[in-house]
Amino acid sequence: MEGDGIGPDIMAAGLDVLNAARHRFDLPVDLTMAEIGFAALEKHGCTIPDDVLEACRQADGIILGPVSHVEYPPVSDGGINPSGHLRRNLDLFANVRPARSRTGLATPTGKPMDLVIMRENTEGFYADRTMHVGTGEIMPTPDLALAIRKVTAAASRRIAEAAFDLAETRRERVTAVHKANVLRVSDGLFLQEVRRVAEERPAIGYDEVLVDAMAAHLIRDPAPYDVIVTTNMFGDILSDEASELSGGLGLAASLNAGAAHAMAQAQHGSAPDLAGQDIANPTALIGSVAMLLRWLSGRHDLPAMDKAASAIETALDTALAKPATRTRDLSGALSTSQFGRLVCDLVKEHSQ
Ligand code: NAD
Repeated sequence: MEGDGIGPDIMAAGLDVLNAARHRFDLPVDLTMAEIGFAALEKHGCTIPDDVLEACRQADGIILGPVSHVEYPPVSDGGINPSGHLRRNLDLFANVRPARSRTGLATPTGKPMDLVIMRENTEGFYADRTMHVGTGEIMPTPDLALAIRKVTAAASRRIAEAAFDLAETRRERVTAVHKANVLRVSDGLFLQEVRRVAEERPAIGYDEVLVDAMAAHLIRDPAPYDVIVTTNMFGDILSDEASELSGGLGLAASLNAGAAHAMAQAQHGSAPDLAGQDIANPTALIGSVAMLLRWLSGRHDLPAMDKAASAIETALDTALAKPATRTRDLSGALSTSQFGRLVCDLVKEHSQ
């Protein structure tokens, strides 16, 4: 699903790279395109029609382009946020958001970093996914607006388990980020569940940091952090900060993962200021495709998918290492499509 704004540009590059990997590693991939966003609204009166949701439910993996949901009409007029709709309906509870520095690419802090933010994806302050009927925002009187934040023990526990599982494959450290000094009940419940998982996994280092302090720590020195587990909105905000600290929002890949489905999706939005000019950085979407291939490899026991994911990530690192082969957001000269072709060539040349 291409999505809005820069979606068609970066999706074209992402699918070219997927196809290059498919041929290079003989991957069993069949692609189906579906329309969402403004294109679907115009044709079908809804930004994510029911048959698209059903096609996603049937698919092994999903690739979602960015959507311009701030500009959508109200839900009653068909303006559903496809991203939230898919996360909620397919129970994609873990939003896995890596941010790492790369050889040759300067970062604002000048310090190395390699962390992953594990963001709970199905509740929190996100009004579109917290209620069975209605939304989590209400307006009792014209001058009073209330937002309800939902935190459950079950969702807190499963995101904590996912974070500890991930840490086991990395540097074995989990940091829980919260605001339990103010949100004593809701973040208290979140922390209670994360601590229980931490007690069951004593081999993994564990600590806790307040969200406001974490915003500062990341800027001062992001190097010590490995896996950060947090609630939905804190994770959304901190992951944009972390990706900017790794070099820019255009680099920020992510995966929305559940028990049965996974969806590749760049962290950034539809960047209307860059739409249709072939100048956006497709790295985030391409990197997200690599994350999806790695997830599929584990789920279907297909080692070739994992090799393809590594080849794509290496190709991205190679392309980003030199200023001349970067896109404009990183002061390079390549267009979206040129950068995509370069990554394809590097994937095709990758030795197994
Ligand atoms: P944005 O992420 O689209 O853009 C923020 C800034 O980063 C802009 O300067 C943009 O040019 C730049 N940028 C983003 N992606 C880039 C890329 N790949 N290459 C180079 N530069 C890039 O955020 P916004 O402007 O606040 O939101 C625009 C629209 O996107 C809104 O409708 C918003 O609701 C939506 N949005 C969607 C998602 C999503 O689909 N997951 C996420 C965030 C925002």
